[in-house]
Amino acid sequence: MATQKKSSSKTPALNFGSAWDYAPAPETTPVPLKKSYDLFIGGKFVQPKSGKTFWSINPATGKRHARIARAEAADVDLAVRTARTAHENGWSKMPAAERGKYLFRIARMIQEKSRELAILESMDGGKPIRESRDIDLPLVAAHFFHYAGWADKLEYAFPGRKPRSLGVAGQIIPWNFPLLMAAWKIAPALACGNTVVIKPAETTSITALHLAEIFQQAGLPDGVVNIVTGAGDTGAALVNHPDIDKIAFTGSTGVGKKIAASVAGTKKMLTLELGGKAANIVFEDAAIDQAVEGIINGIYFNQGHVCCAGSRLLVQESVHDEIVAKLRDRIETLRVGDPLDKNTDVGAINSREQLARIRELVDSGVAEGADLVESSCSLPDEGYWCRPGFFTGVTPSHRVAREEIFGPVLSVLTFRTPEEAIERANNTCYGLSAGIWTDKGSKIFQLANQLKAGVIWGNTFNQFDPTSPFGGYKESGFGREGGRHGLAAYVKV
Ligand code: ADP
Repeated sequence: MATQKKSSSKTPALNFGSAWDYAPAPETTPVPLKKSYDLFIGGKFVQPKSGKTFWSINPATGKRHARIARAEAADVDLAVRTARTAHENGWSKMPAAERGKYLFRIARMIQEKSRELAILESMDGGKPIRESRDIDLPLVAAHFFHYAGWADKLEYAFPGRKPRSLGVAGQIIPWNFPLLMAAWKIAPALACGNTVVIKPAETTSITALHLAEIFQQAGLPDGVVNIVTGAGDTGAALVNHPDIDKIAFTGSTGVGKKIAASVAGTKKMLTLELGGKAANIVFEDAAIDQAVEGIINGIYFNQGHVCCAGSRLLVQESVHDEIVAKLRDRIETLRVGDPLDKNTDVGAINSREQLARIRELVDSGVAEGADLVESSCSLPDEGYWCRPGFFTGVTPSHRVAREEIFGPVLSVLTFRTPEEAIERANNTCYGLSAGIWTDKGSKIFQLANQLKAGVIWGNTFNQFDPTSPFGGYKESGFGREGGRHGLAAYVKV
C-alpha cells in the first residue's frame, strides 16, 4: 500500500512504493526565478504597453512564483512589425549556411544550460525532472541541431524547386512540452529563413523567456524571434494580425477550429497539431510485461499531458485480466510528488483548470458505469495532483473512451480479432497516434496500414526523434512537424 511522507512544509510530499522506502532526492535547489518576465521583442526584454501582468503559478505548490507580461494587440503588432523588418532586412537574405551557424550555436548553448532549463521546466510545468532532464531537453537541443543541418540544404529537401521563406510565422504553443514545442516551431521556421512571433501558453511562459536569453547570447539578429506572453486573447491577436504569413498552432481541437475559421479566406498558411485519443493495442502474443511498461510510459510518466498519450488501452480479451492485474500492481508503485525529485514518476497537474477538467471527466466515467481503479497513494496537500488510475468496463460510448482526458487516467477496452481492434481504434474523431504490441512484425505492418493515425509505434510508445515527422489526421489537425516533412510548412516552393 503506497503511503506518503512530507519532506518539508515547502516541498510536496513524496509517495513511497509498497516494498521499499526512498529518501527524498531533490535534483538540486530550485533555479532562482526572476520576479517578473517581460516580452521579448527586437532582441530586448520590453514591458507591455499597457503595463499589465499575470501570475505564473507553481503547480506543485499552487503558489504564485513569477509575474509574466500580458501582451495586448499593440504589443503583438510591434512584435510582428519587428519580425517583418528582421525578415526583409537580413534574415531571409543571409547566406543559408550562416543561418545554420546560429542554429548550431543555439543548440550547443541549450545543451550547456540543459540542467538549469530542465529544472525551470519542472518548476513551471509540474513534470518530473526525470522527464524534463532526460527527454524534453535532449530533444530540444536535437531539434535545433537537426534543423541547423537543413538550413543550407533546402534544395535537396525539395529537389528541382527553389524553396523560399514565407515571411513572418505566428506560432502558438501549449503547456505540455513548453520548450520542446518552442523548438519544434522555431527551429524549422528559422532554418527556412522565416522570422517568428511565438506565444507560449499562459501557464508555462518562463522557459521560453530563458530560451530568449540564449538567443541573445548566441547573437541571433534582433527581431528574428519575438516572444509575446499572454492568454487566448494574445493568441487571437497574433492569429488575426494582417501581416502574418503563416500560423502554426499546437493546442486543443476547439481552439484549433476557431483559428482555422479566422484564417480561412486570408493569405495565411496554417498548420494545426490538435488533440488525440490514442489507442494502445495489446495482442495476446505480445510480451506482456514489456507492454505494461509501455502503457505506463505512454500515459503516467507524463501525467497524461501529451496529446499523443495512450489514453485508450485496447487489450485482446484473453489477456485482459492479466494486464489489468499487472497494471493495478504497477500503478501502486508509481511515485507521485515533488517534480524536482529524481525518484518521482508522476508530477503535478499543470494548472487548477486542467485538474478540474480531468476530475470532471473522471466523474463522468464513474457516473456512466465504468469501474475506476486508482493508486492508493495520498497526495500532497498543496498544489494540483491527480492519482494515477484506470477505468475498466468502459464501452466505446463512454465519454472517457471518446474525449481527450489529458490526465493520468486510462480507459481499458477489449477486442477479440485484429479487425475489431482496428475498428475500435479508428472509432474516434481524432487521429494523432497509436501503439501496437505483438510479437508478429507482420501484424504491426498490417495494422499500421489500416489505423487512421499520423504516428504509430510498434512495441514501444511515445518515442520522438527530430528526423521523424509528427502530426495527425481528422480532428487531430494537419501538417507535419519534424524531419524533412517539417520544412514544407515553412517554405514556398
Ligand atoms: P489547452 O486546452 O491544452 O490548454 P488551448 O488550445 O486552450 O489548449 O491552448 C493552447 C494555446 O492556445 C495556448 O497558448 C493558449 O493561450 C492559446 N489560445 C487559447 N485560445 C486561443 C485563441 N482563441 N486564439 C489563439 N490562441 C489561443
